[in-house]
Amino acid sequence: MIHEILAVGPLQCNCSILGDETSREAIVVDPGGDISRIVAILEKHGLTAKQIIITHAHIDHIAGAARLKQLTGAPILYNQLDLPLVKMMDIQAGWLGVPTPEVPAPDDTLDDGKLITVTGLTGSILHTPGHTEGSVCLYLPREALLLAGDTLFAGSIGRTDLPGGDQRKILASIRESLLPLPLDTTVIPGHGSRTTIGAERESNPFLQYM
Ligand SMILES: [Zn+2]
Repeated sequence: MIHEILAVGPLQCNCSILGDETSREAIVVDPGGDISRIVAILEKHGLTAKQIIITHAHIDHIAGAARLKQLTGAPILYNQLDLPLVKMMDIQAGWLGVPTPEVPAPDDTLDDGKLITVTGLTGSILHTPGHTEGSVCLYLPREALLLAGDTLFAGSIGRTDLPGGDQRKILASIRESLLPLPLDTTVIPGHGSRTTIGAERESNPFLQYM
């Protein structure tokens, strides 16, 4: 699998480009900005984006989705429980002092267990509410890879003080959906450095009493 990670936008959201070497089909996760860089990487590898997956509807993860859809024709998928956050995109833009991006309704929702497939690559959606109601992670079992959005970070967990956040729910999501994954699963959080499920089980201070 081709896997490129770029930190995009003012909050340096980790955008992942997952591509299959044979079919040259790709999934783009969290195109929060810097769409020209994302498109350049797709072109460098000869990849065609077939799915745009948004882990949650915070502006730094979703702001470039409409532009990327325009350029590639790929559908935008996110969990519909985050639609209230899309409706307040102007307020989110105000938090950062940036123009309000156009954010369309999802072409399809991302429910728990939904399979995300392009030719040669399959992942499944884990609904992990808490950072936002509609937060999801994308798990690729064959690659032992978890794209965790803002649910789990190296040494930390997602903040729950923004609208829709709930600390009890994020801890339950991590306990029930993420910690049972194999210990050697690589975790790419929505921001910052990569980790593994085993390392977080061992030393993440938020997860020590689970
Ligand atoms: Zn977020």
